[in-house]
Amino acid sequence: MSIVRHNWTKEEILDIYNKPLMELLYEAATIHREHHDPNTVQVSTLLSIKTGGCPEDCGYCPQAARYHTDIEGNDLMSVQQVKAQALRAKSSGSSRVCMGAAWRNVKDGPEFDQVLEMVRTINKLDMEVCCTLGMVTENQAQRLAEAGLYAYNHNLDSSEEYYKEVISTRGFEDRLETIDNVRKTNVTVCSGGIIGMGEKVEDRAGMLVALSTLDPQPESTPINALVAVEGTPLEEEKPVSIWDMVRMVCTTRMVLPETQVRLSAGRTQMTREGQAMCFFAGANSIFAGDKLLTTPNPDVNEDMEMFKLLGLNPQKPFTKKTQPKTIESKDSEFQSLGEKPKWSRPNHKIERNEDAKTKAKVLK
Ligand code: SF4
Repeated sequence: MSIVRHNWTKEEILDIYNKPLMELLYEAATIHREHHDPNTVQVSTLLSIKTGGCPEDCGYCPQAARYHTDIEGNDLMSVQQVKAQALRAKSSGSSRVCMGAAWRNVKDGPEFDQVLEMVRTINKLDMEVCCTLGMVTENQAQRLAEAGLYAYNHNLDSSEEYYKEVISTRGFEDRLETIDNVRKTNVTVCSGGIIGMGEKVEDRAGMLVALSTLDPQPESTPINALVAVEGTPLEEEKPVSIWDMVRMVCTTRMVLPETQVRLSAGRTQMTREGQAMCFFAGANSIFAGDKLLTTPNPDVNEDMEMFKLLGLNPQKPFTKKTQPKTIESKDSEFQSLGEKPKWSRPNHKIERNEDAKTKAKVLK
């Protein structure tokens, strides 16, 4: 049985990534079978609870306020709206709801209280609840944990070196600190990245080094293929080839053997055969729903048809970890501290981000 290692080097990971494909597929699939049921795939529904108007400058993201894209922003959804969507997701086979808000970081106050209520509500529907809300302090992570949060998503996006080429409004170390804050609670960690942003294969390996060093390693790792959206700094990037995707999934599976590897953005660009190869190689989780925050995703019925065709079963909720207990806010041990944490703001100049911003100013 392969063991979990936290001391992978970039060179070792590159050697895996560049193996002859048949050998790579066989080795990854073997490790996958040692740690997971190869016929079970976890299905999450991603819900954008607050869309657009984000102050950050992530080069891949159409929700950044500074770029001119087609995104229609909206205020934070109500708890009732979220509950209705969660029930719909449950009835179509999702075991998890992941709520995303286009925020730089969580701020204590009424909006965060509303999100905590959403977490309580969905946990009471016996579904796993995940949030992706930007940077969080330890106290905020504890409050989410008490509400019954199952997972917190915070992607590393790329290698530490390439991160600086994509985002200037926060640092890689902020990502690690947030993950660390989540780790101080019972909430599981979901962290991965995006390929196809113009990075080198070395950066893909570098990101996997960073993820593998986390102890424990993330319970879930999304591998996104960039969806290049018009108006964003990365609008010109070419679609990721299926071979790169398969190699990345295989390598992630081998470096993070116990993690659920999630096929995320970019699935609409993949054929069923391509996705089947990824499942064979060790991907065992997908996002369902016709939208992934703001970018297109296959229809739920199409996914269920694909599952039938491939003999895959959706994973039941709380298979990997018991359901967290929801503590009502009045009984909370962790009250709001009204913290104003100083997350970093490197603000170095990224030429293509600046160009997209200038273009947006002309168009707006
Ligand atoms: S990825 Fe998140 S933090 Fe970055 S611009 Fe988009 S919504 Fe904001």
